[in-house]
Amino acid sequence: MKTLHQIGEFGLIREISRWMPTSNPNLIQGIGDDVAVIVFGKEVILFTTDLLIEEVHFERSWATPYLLGKKSLAVNLSDIAAMGGVPKYFLISIGVPKSLPFSFISNFYRGLKEEAKKFNVELIGGDTSISNKLIINICLIGQGEKEKLVFRKGAQVGDDLYVSGTLGDAGLGLMLLKERKRGKNTRKLVEKHLAPTPRIELGQALAQQRLAHAMIDISDGLLIDTQHLLEDGKVGVRIWEEYIPLSKNYCQWVKLYFKDPYELALTGGEDYELLFTAPKRVRTKISSLSQSLSIPITRIGEILPEKEGLQLIQKNGRIRVPTRLGFDHFKKPGFQRLS
Ligand code: ADP
Ligand code: MG
Repeated sequence: MKTLHQIGEFGLIREISRWMPTSNPNLIQGIGDDVAVIVFGKEVILFTTDLLIEEVHFERSWATPYLLGKKSLAVNLSDIAAMGGVPKYFLISIGVPKSLPFSFISNFYRGLKEEAKKFNVELIGGDTSISNKLIINICLIGQGEKEKLVFRKGAQVGDDLYVSGTLGDAGLGLMLLKERKRGKNTRKLVEKHLAPTPRIELGQALAQQRLAHAMIDISDGLLIDTQHLLEDGKVGVRIWEEYIPLSKNYCQWVKLYFKDPYELALTGGEDYELLFTAPKRVRTKISSLSQSLSIPITRIGEILPEKEGLQLIQKNGRIRVPTRLGFDHFKKPGFQRLS
């Protein structure tokens, strides 16, 4: 008998999409990308949903309800960002323990409201139930232009591979939180884990200016999410490890846990940065976009033919063979990341 551990999270999702194939011509994208895309008149509607479960995705003792509210929406916004769409409406369903203080819920909704206001989205409904653990599910609906959306597939040989922001901070923030370690400059790392910023503006600009060929948000880790771009685009990639953007705070604290600073940046999840490919001819446009939005965008690799696979080149010129790519819900015991 096969177990979910053997099949893995992504294997399970593949099975589910085989069990329930779709044939509706209005469905442009079903299971398999950051959002589902449905044609509606001249526009397309985007749907995405994410689940947060107490003790799986968060601990009530670490996350303030306010930040948890913000993050619940942020992780969904990030999926819309990864398509270059415009988020619009959301529904939220909560399973709540009887003993939960009312102030927890009111502060949770305060965070939710602030995030909603910041990104101009409106709450239109949901569901409420009693539950042993706190469970939060949001379904976010967005809008887009069919011709401009950027999918996971679409990377072309010769494209550059880019990433926004810095990597590994959220993963390191989580480790610091778990051990309740506080020190100089740990706050930003912890904040990146507790309240990531969805790159909505950047995603939209890349789509509007038709700069990106393929895009995904990094929720499970750089390598695993790169692997998704490669599988869907039927391409390979060469990534230069020394180009991977690391924050100063990360470099300072990562030494506490890892001899090799890149290990966590390659596999740590929940940074919610955008990973995308773009043709070489738009390099200057991408650097001016980075400047105008004040968001760091770093070129970390180059798209190769499929047979080249995922190549990771270390500073000394050697090829690194990663022992694991990133996060899979069924393959790793212990504390788990968001989907
Ligand atoms: P992300 O990390 O961007 O949230 P996931 O890895 O969770 O993406 O999901 C990948 C794809 O699989 C998405 O299209 C998502 O809608 C779909 N998916 C995930 N879980 C299920 C499920 N239980 N049933 C059907 N589709 C699912
Ligand atoms: Mg995603």
